[in-house]
Amino acid sequence: MKASVLTVGDEILIGQIVDTNSARIAQWLGEQGLCVCEMRSTGDAQQAITAALDGLFASCDTVIITGGLGPTSDDITKHTLAAYFGASRMVLHEPTLKHLTELLGSRGIALGELNRSQALAPDGCEVLPNLAGTAPGLWLEKDGKLAVALPGVPSEMEYLMANEVAPRLKKRFNTGEIFHKNIITTGIPESTLAEAIAAWENDLPGYLRLAYLPSLSGVKLRLSCHTAAAHPNLASEVAERVRQLQTLIPSHIVGYDNDTLEGAVGRLLKVRGATLSTAESCTGGRLAAIVTAQPGASAYFKGGVVAYANNVKVKALGVLPDDIEKHGAVSQAVVEQMATGARQALQTDFAIATSGVAGPDGGTPQKPVGTVWVAVAAPKRVASYKLNLGGDREQTMQRASYIALNLLRLALIDDSCSS
Ligand code: ATP
Repeated sequence: MKASVLTVGDEILIGQIVDTNSARIAQWLGEQGLCVCEMRSTGDAQQAITAALDGLFASCDTVIITGGLGPTSDDITKHTLAAYFGASRMVLHEPTLKHLTELLGSRGIALGELNRSQALAPDGCEVLPNLAGTAPGLWLEKDGKLAVALPGVPSEMEYLMANEVAPRLKKRFNTGEIFHKNIITTGIPESTLAEAIAAWENDLPGYLRLAYLPSLSGVKLRLSCHTAAAHPNLASEVAERVRQLQTLIPSHIVGYDNDTLEGAVGRLLKVRGATLSTAESCTGGRLAAIVTAQPGASAYFKGGVVAYANNVKVKALGVLPDDIEKHGAVSQAVVEQMATGARQALQTDFAIATSGVAGPDGGTPQKPVGTVWVAVAAPKRVASYKLNLGGDREQTMQRASYIALNLLRLALIDDSCSS
């Protein structure tokens, strides 16, 4: 079964926002067993949307659309779809009106005409309730053509895909049970990982597909079976394959399915009853943000110091000014003192520190942009590592944070440094 994706918005065409919705929808559709045959983006113009729909419906019967459902006059997807599917009028959808009144009321906002218009839907369409925002989704079908329109805001699109669209697609296309098993890896680049597990991958049965899903925190491996019902021993088969994988990359697997690196670190700290602090220079607080994004982090995370200026490194963390003078702020000596200083100042069992050149300026031949020192201070020792990272400033900051967190995870697994 084929589908296509249409994203609507002038901001996409002028490069002001990056169209992440198409990629996410393609992933969702893939998980439903639907394959995406085309993706297009248009501006907020009725003619352009209509022409795009004509083009997409020429090669498939299902189009998922995002954007242009808001209440302002430039949000015209709804009216374009009404005309395209021959709806004679717009009708008021009472449950949406109730939702809007309650939602805006809870924020102290009275329902105005513009918001009220969001409760209008083309006659004959199915309205998909959007509990994550204001504009509902729309499901329109006629003459074998199906269009699903969703808000452009990624969190609202995700909510509707998960709660309203995916179950309907499954029913509509009878896609059957699709089995997924995620293996969350970190600390190993995609190409190295692919080489390390090549023989294992080649040995997978034809009905099990492997996908590499890289992100700044690591690579998620996803095993999928689109014909789960035909394989009664699927669960045990997958469990055995995962066991084999564990022996190939034991230290790189941090968890399964919805696990995360920060979740794995949190579990390890909790099991030990240990506490953590951070001392950050080049990561500017991102490390603490990642740690505290994990629900329940208060059980082990005490706090962090963003020691960006040298005098803060000295005053808050006890770094020796002579060492900053002699080695520079981006150095092994300084990052180790930042970690031990945070451990002492915040009275924690473990501390992680970062100091580096995130760029785009500030690099030197000895310390080019992307040079980052990270240190992990444990009860019995301090370990430090020099990283040479590529990418832009934000990527360097995020990557360094995840690598530092992974080094803490490895220190927690390695008993010798913490006891
Ligand atoms: P709203 O109620 O906010 O008007 P809408 O359905 O009209 O919702 P848009 O106006 O198209 O949606 O987009 C709202 C915001 O969502 C945009 O400003 C942008 O930040 C984000 N957005 C829109 N389309 C995309 C996309 N394809 N990928 C990622 N983000 C998007």
